[in-house]
Amino acid sequence: MITQTKITGNELHAKLVSLHDPTYTPELCEQYATLIDEILKLKAQRSAIVLAHNYQRPEIFEVADFIGDSFELARKARDVEDAEIIVFCGVHFMAETAKVFNPERMVLLPDLRAGCSLADSVTAEALAERVQELREIYPDLQVVSYVNCTADVKALSDACCTSANAVKVVNRLEADNILFVPDQNLASYVQGQTSKNIISWDGNCYVHHQITPAEVERAKAGIPGLVVIAHPECRKDVIAMADAVLSTSAMIRYARESNADKFLIVTECGLSDRLLMEIPGKHFYKACKLCRYMKMITLAGVRDALTNLRYEITMSEEVRQGARRALDRMLDLGA
Ligand code: SF4
Repeated sequence: MITQTKITGNELHAKLVSLHDPTYTPELCEQYATLIDEILKLKAQRSAIVLAHNYQRPEIFEVADFIGDSFELARKARDVEDAEIIVFCGVHFMAETAKVFNPERMVLLPDLRAGCSLADSVTAEALAERVQELREIYPDLQVVSYVNCTADVKALSDACCTSANAVKVVNRLEADNILFVPDQNLASYVQGQTSKNIISWDGNCYVHHQITPAEVERAKAGIPGLVVIAHPECRKDVIAMADAVLSTSAMIRYARESNADKFLIVTECGLSDRLLMEIPGKHFYKACKLCRYMKMITLAGVRDALTNLRYEITMSEEVRQGARRALDRMLDLGA
């Protein structure tokens, strides 16, 4: 848990200067410092905590009680103790996961436009139909859903997984034939690490899928000694060029512990910002791909969410229990 204290505009500006982002002017940092102060007071009044994904804007990290990748956030959401409200600074499916683990608490997403192209690529109806077809060919078929999907897709799955534990979850399931939804790139990565038959869904994350080998090659050619760290949602030809393939939080540990000092971070840009702020003295080069959904969350949105108690995440109890079963299975198998 991060301890938060009031920060001045000057202090925030000094902190964000490492990002070399000219949009963080002293005036903007002053406005953000005022919003941060308002949010910290509202959190105390409302007994609220803020969970934030690694891809969030750097100023959001200033009000977060916990920052992590989707697996860490799922675990954190499960273990929340002293809070009546969870404000989720991430995208809709992540806030749903927090609700699945916290039926008694109010879970708020500051902006309902914070969706996900990957989660949108599979619906519960399409999945049910495909499972029925495939079970006629593979009677032992089990469904593994990457957590980047809606709660009703999770509810139809045998287990969920994240990029950090996908291989472990697949290997520990009893079936030999696995329908892996919705990310085709993560499915292909998992297929390379297991002897099981992985049947892939035809979805992808638009942020990672647009990164090409030519872009990675250009960066490597221009910066000698560059270590390439890629996220498993990247295309297979990009992954083949990486020195390490890791989830976002594993990237942070790797960069901290590595003897190298120059890294190309092949994932959404927010993670490079976090690395630049947390690991001074090392150089992080960005893939320069922003997730428009993650960036919908702003400090003003968090303030308004806490003031007006909006936008609340809800789902039927049947869907919640089904998703909980699949998520618990992941937490057991992927531990
Ligand atoms: S980065 Fe990709 S997977 Fe993550 S929220 Fe954005 S669109 Fe979805």
